[in-house]
Amino acid sequence: MKRDLAKLSRKEYDLLVIGGGISGLCTAWDAALRGLSVALVEKGDFAQATLAATLRVVHGGLPYSRHLNLRRMRQCLRERAVLMRIAPHLLHPLPFLLPTYGHGEQGIEVLAIAMLVNRLMRFDGNQLHDRQKSIPNGRLISRYRCRRVLPGLEQSRLTGGAILYGAQMCNLERLSLSFARSAAEAGADVANYAKVVGFSLDGRRVRRAKVEDVLTGEEFEIQAKVFANITGPWSNIVLGLTRYRPPERTVIRSKGIQIVAPPLCEKYAFGIRSKDRHSRALARGRRLLFVAPWRGRSLIGASYAPYKGDPDDFSITEHDIAEFVVEVNAAYPGASLKREDVSFWHGGLRPRTHESIGRDLLTASLKSEIRDHARRDHIQGLISVVGAKYSTCRLLAEKAVDLVFRKLGYSHPPRTLTKRKPVFGGRMERFENYARRVLRERPDGISENAMRRLIHNHGSEYRRILRYVEEDAGWGETVPGSEEVLKAEVVHSVREEMACRLTDVVMRRTDLGCLGHPGEAALRACADIVAAELGWDEARWKKELAEARMVFVPGGVR
Ligand SMILES: Cc1cc2nc3c(=O)[nH]c(=O)nc-3n(C[C@H](O)[C@H](O)[C@H](O)COP(=O)(O)OP(=O)(O)OC[C@H]3O[C@@H](n4cnc5c(N)ncnc54)[C@H](O)[C@@H]3O)c2cc1C
Repeated sequence: MKRDLAKLSRKEYDLLVIGGGISGLCTAWDAALRGLSVALVEKGDFAQATLAATLRVVHGGLPYSRHLNLRRMRQCLRERAVLMRIAPHLLHPLPFLLPTYGHGEQGIEVLAIAMLVNRLMRFDGNQLHDRQKSIPNGRLISRYRCRRVLPGLEQSRLTGGAILYGAQMCNLERLSLSFARSAAEAGADVANYAKVVGFSLDGRRVRRAKVEDVLTGEEFEIQAKVFANITGPWSNIVLGLTRYRPPERTVIRSKGIQIVAPPLCEKYAFGIRSKDRHSRALARGRRLLFVAPWRGRSLIGASYAPYKGDPDDFSITEHDIAEFVVEVNAAYPGASLKREDVSFWHGGLRPRTHESIGRDLLTASLKSEIRDHARRDHIQGLISVVGAKYSTCRLLAEKAVDLVFRKLGYSHPPRTLTKRKPVFGGRMERFENYARRVLRERPDGISENAMRRLIHNHGSEYRRILRYVEEDAGWGETVPGSEEVLKAEVVHSVREEMACRLTDVVMRRTDLGCLGHPGEAALRACADIVAAELGWDEARWKKELAEARMVFVPGGVR
């Protein structure tokens, strides 16, 4: 995957995707696989925005049972099975404990009915070759058992609980890159650090996008027949660049953060009811906080608050973290978290589309939107796609590409291939067997930990990293301070994965920064390798290091 901006202005594409979050990347992959010529531009690094806030949970649609929305429930179940099939190295089953309170809406009886409906809806939801990845049915547990698993729970009105099963997207950054690489492999021309700053229109038809190379400040144009604005919280800003932004089209944003804390429960993820005032106001008191075991710690999220500023100014402040710690302790008294227990924080903005205004936040956050601006706003050649969930983005992309085909004049679009085709790195039959075999055959000098990480993060493409170790044995060493991340991964991320900045390597290509500051020695060692690969001078090296350090300071930007 090479960043070649000159190529982007050489031809007219069928489709230009604006936004390299997961929805844009999936759309580019689907469209390229179906034979369209596709370009994608992302103003920052791939999947650097809302993805950071994602709780990494793929549920089976149980939240939709309260509205008896069986269609959405089926979609969630199917898409979960699809994701587990096409990215077997990056998704793994996750048991989940949901305590119940009283005998009303949050009671055990209502949950029992919801689980029964969900089980009926799964009649074909588990058809995976890899039996090790089958998601078991849930079961109810007693109040006593619930207290044994989660002794820190609030006891009053506790009536029991349910053990449910979902999946965890263990490394969302790598999963998103797999989609980017899949798109590039299918023929899409993708580029990060390329920002759409304007459009050229012919009357009310969009003809070209003006794009700025964020790394150099140079501008160029990309021609396409259809433009897909898939910029999440920025979507109304990008729409405004047409100068024909419909006045009623607003995207309201809410800010969500999550924290990385010491493990609160090692075996189960669990849900606890938030008592936060925004939760009461925006989600009618129904919002759950999720605590999930993740890399030996707990990932706890998400806080919600309305966000009124510019999405480019988003950051997580010391105040946000401190407030969220109070919220977690109120919801789960046994946590007894202190601010200093929090090793890191993630966050992002959730867009609420025009259609969802007026609904409560919880319902609104489950809504995605595909909008053809020709029909509603008389702007030709432009669609907007707003994703609501990472786990259903493939389906959203499929529908968006169907619309693109119709706009290109095809009455019967070819069928999507993304339901069955493995993502880049996902070519294996049974993950556990595959991992065991690769571990047995690991080359001398590569530790078991490092090898296991390589298989989990790169799946069937792990050999690409080992090739760099063959080129230079020194790259087979781990980065100082890490027991798992090989120097070869840093080289690989620059040469094959379009890492342009030190933060791209530390935050999204390797695991170095996922739990917090990886240590000064690790940052410097990475900066040295990237500098040698990209020819940075000392001033750039210092600037990159300073920016990378800021990521781990509250208020810093990623
Ligand atoms: C707190 C929280 C928790 C969540 N938890 C879960 C979960 O557990 N499971 C789940 O499935 N989903 C979850 N989600 C939802 C999920 O994170 C989002 O649906 C998903 O990440 C949205 O991806 P996207 O590509 O639509 O948007 P984004 O990731 O926001 O991507 C839009 C991209 O467009 C780019 N862009 C903007 N302007 C321009 C421009 N002018 N030119 C070029 N590029 C531009 C941005 O840089 C950005 O990268 C959660 C969301 C939040 C907020």
